Amino acid sequence: MNSARSAELYESALAVIPGGVNSPVRAFGSVGGTPRFIERGEGPWIFDADGNRYIDFVLSWGALPLGHAHPDVVEAVTAQARRGTTFGAPTALETALTERIAAAVPSIEMVRFVSSGTEAVMSAVRLARAATGRRRIVKFAGCYHGHSDSLLVAGGSGLATFGLPGTPGVTPGAVAETLTAEFNDLSGAAELMERHGNEIAAVIVEPVAGNMGLVLPVPGFLEGLRELCSKTGALLIFDEVMTGFRVAYGGAQAHFGVMPDLTCLGKVMGGGLPAAAYGGPRSLMRRIAPAGDVYQAGTLSGNPLAMAAGIATLDHLRQGGIYELLGAASGRMAEGVRVSGGESRVPVQAAAIGGMWGFFLADEAVRDFRSARAARADLFAEFFHAMLERGVYLPPSQFEACFM
Ligand code: PLP
Repeated sequence: MNSARSAELYESALAVIPGGVNSPVRAFGSVGGTPRFIERGEGPWIFDADGNRYIDFVLSWGALPLGHAHPDVVEAVTAQARRGTTFGAPTALETALTERIAAAVPSIEMVRFVSSGTEAVMSAVRLARAATGRRRIVKFAGCYHGHSDSLLVAGGSGLATFGLPGTPGVTPGAVAETLTAEFNDLSGAAELMERHGNEIAAVIVEPVAGNMGLVLPVPGFLEGLRELCSKTGALLIFDEVMTGFRVAYGGAQAHFGVMPDLTCLGKVMGGGLPAAAYGGPRSLMRRIAPAGDVYQAGTLSGNPLAMAAGIATLDHLRQGGIYELLGAASGRMAEGVRVSGGESRVPVQAAAIGGMWGFFLADEAVRDFRSARAARADLFAEFFHAMLERGVYLPPSQFEACFM
């Protein structure tokens, strides 16, 4: 497959953009080779600058369950663009999208829009600290909650329990209040909360982990976190930036029937435009300025183009049968990868839920960051490139989920 034009574009980008990309994983760093520069998308397909066509299992990292350039979304965005792209003043579109989100996501009554998942999480954590009057937060190794300083904590190692900075530029002070536990290890979380019980403002978790590859919660894990939080007075934050409107229309909380105190959303709810949100019960959300005293703001928050795209997307997804289709297709992919792994004697662990699926080239079942990191990165890189050559665009890292 020819990728000469992508290689040229990458060279030009490298001269003026750090690493040639605007978000690190796009650079193919862990699989090697030249990132494909995309020219257009249509439904499940993307087309690169050399004219190659791929079936896209990245879908802008989960943002596009309706595929690329869905006619309803294109129509909604172009109609709004003709009326204006941003006003910095309220529009009815914001209320219309909020009403849809509140109707869909069981624990949400009120919503504040922001422009990225990072902002949504950062703001929800601020609200949790304000509401509880406590400082510390608990996160899980291998879960990603955006790149705000206090959540960029190295995962996995025991030292990380007390929050070593995960990147230069993040001060020890910024992560000093972040405690780390292992995903799916309820007793580890319980121990942390026992030790720091009345200092913990919030426990934040991806209810289905999608940022260390796809790792499902073991039965009882989310329920147990809910119980621990209720007992200690910490707030439970579900980071549903990836799982919202993807695992089910009402997100992972609807799928598992476990209610968080605060929910972060992003990706699907913006229909492929930059929008994200955090929400919860009125009693908590009324603390946000200007209704309350917790400051949080944004020039482009609730942007009309993004609101229009989000409304069109949710209105389409709300139609019956779509999540059954997504779930069946994701399940078939996971099963197919598992069976072909067995036939070719490559160790494969595969899983699927709603519109997400994923696999590890690993001998042992994966249930946390430790076991995820035992997967074979070298084999994955080879498999990734073999699939790319055959027109299948997978996430360029084993530590990412695939999207239907
Ligand atoms: N939270 C989760 C679970 C995510 O998957 C992501 C991004 O992938 C984020 C937060 C950060 O969102 P954004 O990249 O929009 O800042």
